[in-house]
Amino acid sequence: MPKRSIVSVAGLPIVKVSRRGASRLQDGHVWVYRSDISVDAVPPGALVSVADERGKVLGTALYSSSSQIAIRMISRDAVSDLGSLLRERIQAAIAYRERVVRDTDAYRVVFSEADLLPGLIVDRYNDLLSLQVLTQAMDAEPVRQTVVSELDQRLQPAAIAERVDPRVRELEQLPPRSSGLIHGEKSSTVFSMNGVRFHYDALQGQKTGAFLDQRENYAAAAQYARGEALDVFCYQGGFALHLAPHCSTVTGVDSSRPALEMAEQNAALNGQEIEWIEGNAFDLLKDYAGAGRQYDTVILDPPAFAKSKRTLETALRGYKELNLRALKMLRPGGILVSCSCSYHVSLADFVAVLASAASDAHKTMRVVEVRGQAKDHPVMLNVPETGYLKAVVVNASN
Ligand code: SAH
Repeated sequence: MPKRSIVSVAGLPIVKVSRRGASRLQDGHVWVYRSDISVDAVPPGALVSVADERGKVLGTALYSSSSQIAIRMISRDAVSDLGSLLRERIQAAIAYRERVVRDTDAYRVVFSEADLLPGLIVDRYNDLLSLQVLTQAMDAEPVRQTVVSELDQRLQPAAIAERVDPRVRELEQLPPRSSGLIHGEKSSTVFSMNGVRFHYDALQGQKTGAFLDQRENYAAAAQYARGEALDVFCYQGGFALHLAPHCSTVTGVDSSRPALEMAEQNAALNGQEIEWIEGNAFDLLKDYAGAGRQYDTVILDPPAFAKSKRTLETALRGYKELNLRALKMLRPGGILVSCSCSYHVSLADFVAVLASAASDAHKTMRVVEVRGQAKDHPVMLNVPETGYLKAVVVNASN
């Protein structure tokens, strides 16, 4: 008998998931891996109906023909009109931010799975929006048009820029595309968070421009900061600029010269004087700790060391070294804000690293706060992968 693709009642192609895949979905996760599905001639990026082995429909998903994450659920129900679902989801995402975001005109408007819009990220920087497309489904032209028109209508930005991650497009087997404005003409602006102002250029910088996920942690760090402060892995000065009004001196360290140039412009914008040092944080901390330098406030916010489970051990050693050196430099009564944005490093692992660093440094430390990512980057209770940022505030006893 010739193979033919099975079509659901709503006219959508059907993807059958194995028992393991179905139980994952029943547990509230939204991903099913390729090894847990069987498909027949489903087009890349298609909207699909998801069924278990017995044919019971479990919901509607977006399909990727190349990713290991073959389907990402978009609804537990049947979806007949993807366009109106996308519009509703964007409105809900905006409404959620209106409830939880304070003291800023820069925040994440859409956070992919956490807003039931898997594969789509939208950040707002004052009057500019930055958009990232991470999957075949979100890259489809009608989807793009709906997303841009809804964002335009609801938020009326001066412009929308797209930031392209070439590696993601390659993995999703999408044709190359370059970053740039996709709506409007303005590409730079000034945004503010917690009363601190920052330059933003939609066409430059890492990630989508700034590290919005740290916004609430900047305010927390500012609350405890005093004396001489060191911001290690400072990028464009997120923490340093928040510390400056409360500290006698602030030094920011990063290996990226363009990031430090932007940091310097940000300091000028806020009328602050901060010392910026270009260098390798590991070497600098070693030198400074060796030379007996002391600080009252230290921030550690390194890039994700554990990109996968395989590199976990190496990552933990990296965190240990950094935290050990930072703790050695902390004056009695001093505050360390130590961050990890590696999903693969759990909070328990990270706290254990800090505890072992404290004992090696012969310091008695108390935990002031255990924090995570800002509320506009919500963690889905049943999708652990949406939670990645840890920020632990510790205080050295006198
Ligand atoms: N704290 C920043 C974000 C830090 S992102 C903020 O809140 O905005 C991580 C930073 O680490 C990047 O700016 C990157 O340039 C820098 N970096 C990566 N490896 C480094 C190294 N070995 N030494 C110093 N900086 C490094």
